[in-house]
Amino acid sequence: MGASGVMAQRQAYDVIIVGARCAGSATAMLMARRGHSVLLLDADRFPSDFEASTHLLWQSGAARLAKWGLLDRLRETGCPSIRKITLDLAVMSLEGNAPAADGIDEAFCPRRLVLDELLLEAAQEAGVEFHQESRVRELIMQDGRVHGVRWTTADGGTEEATCRMLIGADGASSPVAKMVDAPVLDEHPRHEGIIWAYFDNFPAEGMEFYSRPRRMLMVYPTNNGQSLVGSCVHQEDYAEVAREADTRMLEEFEALAPSLAARTRQATQSSRWLTRSTKGFRRQATGPGWALVGDAGLTMDPITAAGISNAFRDADLLSAAVHDGLAAGADIDAVVARFQDERDAVSIPLYEFAKESSKLEPPPQPIMDLFGALPGQQDAIDQYFGVFAQTVPVSEFFAEANFVRIMSGQSQTA
Ligand SMILES: Cc1cc2nc3c(=O)[nH]c(=O)nc-3n(C[C@H](O)[C@H](O)[C@H](O)COP(=O)(O)OP(=O)(O)OC[C@H]3O[C@@H](n4cnc5c(N)ncnc54)[C@H](O)[C@@H]3O)c2cc1C
Repeated sequence: MGASGVMAQRQAYDVIIVGARCAGSATAMLMARRGHSVLLLDADRFPSDFEASTHLLWQSGAARLAKWGLLDRLRETGCPSIRKITLDLAVMSLEGNAPAADGIDEAFCPRRLVLDELLLEAAQEAGVEFHQESRVRELIMQDGRVHGVRWTTADGGTEEATCRMLIGADGASSPVAKMVDAPVLDEHPRHEGIIWAYFDNFPAEGMEFYSRPRRMLMVYPTNNGQSLVGSCVHQEDYAEVAREADTRMLEEFEALAPSLAARTRQATQSSRWLTRSTKGFRRQATGPGWALVGDAGLTMDPITAAGISNAFRDADLLSAAVHDGLAAGADIDAVVARFQDERDAVSIPLYEFAKESSKLEPPPQPIMDLFGALPGQQDAIDQYFGVFAQTVPVSEFFAEANFVRIMSGQSQTA
């Protein structure tokens, strides 16, 4: 109830979307651009940073922004483009860049404050009605389908609205997924946690990774001339390192990557160490009157830094399915259900790859041999980076024929 004790009722919308970050704002924008009425709700106040995640945006995600006409806006924020990837394996170092996605050969690492705001603005420009500080608490059901939602507002009021399709873009702990009781199709435990901070005066030409036993250290150049410096830490060590991050992070850099430690010492830390660990899971993506997009439906271990690019891809897939569903009238749920197969077909191979990588275990001998054969084969190195950028399918890089080609020193781009 509002301050007056009266529940405010809004009009019926084609779509209500809960969560206004990479998955929600992108989906809202795409639905509105297709001419649909969209209500977008988020519990947070915007603009707001999102300190629960690093924010590397690979070539595939950047290409999606370009397709939507938003990549130049990202460039205008001063976010540096990244065309160089260095993977330091202690015994050797690989350098290159992932193959381009639709002509975009740049990755970026935009602060979430910047990226999420840019997406939200684009959604509102497309005609989306947005309410911040609006926490969805309850579903409205009709004839066994989701028919709308009730939410509370910053002033303690309650509002409700109805829709033909409710989309949960409300993150890994998705209240919408819980309210619709979306089945969990697969899940795996936390294998690692990420600890990171922002630094001034930390020059970085590109993204850097340092693969070490039970660790993956990383550096990404980001907005404001800063660098994000951090580490993926094995789950067994994570809680302790996170607790003692102020001393432990530099100590670990010194032990594992002295050149990185030297640069860290010379730089100025401009944030506290941020920490987060998450399990990976896949939920059913659609049901009667509802769909889930982004982390709400599929959360990968963040070691491959794929979540934002995935959210963009799935916003494209889901908005097309919902658009067709809205045109199908009574068959809407059957049409939207195709999103499940489309999402899984493109994401499960990387989901499994991320799950294995997140264990931070030494790769099996054949993969070690493969790494040993990579130096000097630039095509193959770039292809390997393309697995992370999602411009080379996991199955293609690890295909037997590709393996044989690399091992024989004759790699060419497949
Ligand atoms: C440690 C870590 C590092 C990561 N690093 C990267 C990386 O480098 N690159 C990358 O691509 N991905 C990375 N990810 C993954 C990435 O953060 C997620 O995939 C991405 O944030 C998912 O976006 P989303 O829009 O689905 O959900 P979120 O970004 O989680 O947004 C959900 C929104 O829903 C809102 N919400 C929740 N409940 C309600 C409610 N009841 N009512 C209204 N609103 C609600 C929240 O306020 C929030 O704004 C990382 C994740 C972690 C944990």
